[in-house]
This record gives sequence, structure tokens and C-alpha cells, in this order.
Amino acid sequence: MQQEPQALSAELLLQIETLHQELELLKREKLDLEILLETTTVHADLVEAQLHESNQQLQLEVRERKAAEAKLKASEIQLKALLKTVSQANHDLKIILETTTTHGDFIEEYTHNLSIRDPLTGLFNRRYQEKSLERHLKYAQEHQQALSIIMSDIDYFKNYNDNWGHQAGDVILQEISKFLMQNIRQSDVACRYGGEEIMLILPGASLEEAKGLGEKLRLGIQKLSLEKTDQFLQKITLSLGIASFPEHGLSSLEITQSADTALYRAKAKGRNCTITASELLL
Ligand code: GH3
Ligand code: MG
Ligand code: MG
Repeated sequence: MQQEPQALSAELLLQIETLHQELELLKREKLDLEILLETTTVHADLVEAQLHESNQQLQLEVRERKAAEAKLKASEIQLKALLKTVSQANHDLKIILETTTTHGDFIEEYTHNLSIRDPLTGLFNRRYQEKSLERHLKYAQEHQQALSIIMSDIDYFKNYNDNWGHQAGDVILQEISKFLMQNIRQSDVACRYGGEEIMLILPGASLEEAKGLGEKLRLGIQKLSLEKTDQFLQKITLSLGIASFPEHGLSSLEITQSADTALYRAKAKGRNCTITASELLL
């Protein structure tokens, strides 16, 4: 059945109106979508920028953490080395403690020896000599025994040092000291009195006995000097002065002075000889 033209046009108009409305709706939707797209794009840029920043921050943190780890490792190595040193020191200390405990007597004797001996020659030192002479004199007085001392001095020793050097001079001092120690009694006391002066304390020895020993030692050194010419490089001789208790003094000072004067006389007489304090009176 055919419609009336008026009804058709009204219907068309309605359809057109509906299409308009739909078009409008679509336009709005498109606009909304466009806005949404723009917002999303802007937001995405922002998110990307934030992500980039976070990433950089993260990388920085990673770098910092790595540096901290490296530092920690270095500290750990140092700590380990320190621990090793401490443990070694601890071990050494234990050994020292053990040695000190076990060998206390030996160490005491060793340190005592160091305090009374002359390091170059091994002879007793001057401080010990003074005490020893006092002690032996006291004993001689109390027991009415004889005691003698020999004061010896190397002849022209300065000359020797000047010609061959101080070290060669030291060797001479050591050789002479060794010889003297080997040729006296165990009860005798050999001391380095001064630079190249040696005092022998001879408990119980009379002047005669002391003179006999003095000559034996002087000739022995002369012989030693000839035997060891290569080492000595030049002939070495001794001058000796002898004094005895009680005839040349009662105190250590008096006896020492008497022996010193006798030595001085031996030098004046031409050296390489032995003079007793008794001969000073002649
Ligand atoms: P004299 O015959 O009159 O005793 O002459 P001298 O040259 O031996 O005596 P002086 O007192 O003029 O010199 C002593 C020398 O001893 C001076 C010094 O260089 C030397 N002397 C002292 N002590 C030591 C030492 O420990 N080592 C060495 N190498 N020489 C020493
Ligand atoms: Mg001398
Ligand atoms: Mg001298």
C-alpha cells in the first residue's frame, strides 16, 4: 500500500532528524575520544618522563650501591689484614711470654751480663770494676789476704788508629781482651777501665805474683802481635803498672792511683814494660 506523500515526508523528516541527532552524538563522542586521546598522550608523556627520571634515579642508586659495596669489600680486606697482623702479634707475644716464663733465669742472667759487661770487648765495665775492687779489698782486709791490681795500656794506640782506622783498632782491643781473659785465673777480674786501658783485679795475689803474671801477659801480647802481623798490621805492645794491697794503699782509690803512677812510669821508661808501685820509691 502506498503512503501519502505528506506522511512520507514527515517520516523522512523524522529520519533526517534522528540521523542528525545520531550525527551530533557521534560528533560528541568523537570529541570526547579526541579529548581522551589527548589526555592519554599528555599523560603518557608525563608517565614516560617520570619513568625516565625514576630510571635515572635507579641507575644512580645502583652506581652508589656498587661504590658502597666496593668500599665495603676494601674495608673487609683491610680488616682481614689487620686481623692477621693482630693475630700474628698475639702469637709473638705468646711466644715472648712463654719464653720469658720458661727462660726467665736465662734472660735475667743475660740482661745482668749486659749491664756489667763492655759490649765491644766483653770485659767487665767500669762500674762493675769499681764495685768489684771495693768488694775484693774488703774481703782482703777482713781475711788479711793480699790483693794486687794491674793497670795496662796499649802503646801508641792513637797512632795505630790513625794509620789503620778505628775499626782495626777495635779488633786489636777485642784480641787483647780475649787473650787477657784466657790467661788469668777464674777468680781474677778483667775490666775495661777506660778507652784502651784494662784493669786486672787479682784477689789473693802478692806483688811478686802479680808482676810475674804482668810480664807473662806483656810478652804474650807481644808474641800474639808477631803471630798475627797480618791482622794487627803493626806491632802492638802493652805497658803495665802494678800495685798491691796493703803496701801501696788501703783504699781502692789509693791502690788505683799507685798502679796508675806505675803505669805512667812504664810509659816514661820507653813503654812495653812492667813497673810496680814499689819501683817508684827506688
Ligand atoms: P801511649 O803509648 O802514651 O798510651 O799512646 P796512646 O796513643 O796509646 O795514648 P793516647 O791516650 O794518646 O790515646 C789513646 C787512644 O786510644 C786514643 C783513642 O783513639 C784510642 N781508643 C780509645 N778507645 C778506643 C776504642 O774503643 N776503639 C779504638 N779503635 N780506639 C780507641
Ligand atoms: Mg795508650
Ligand atoms: Mg790510654
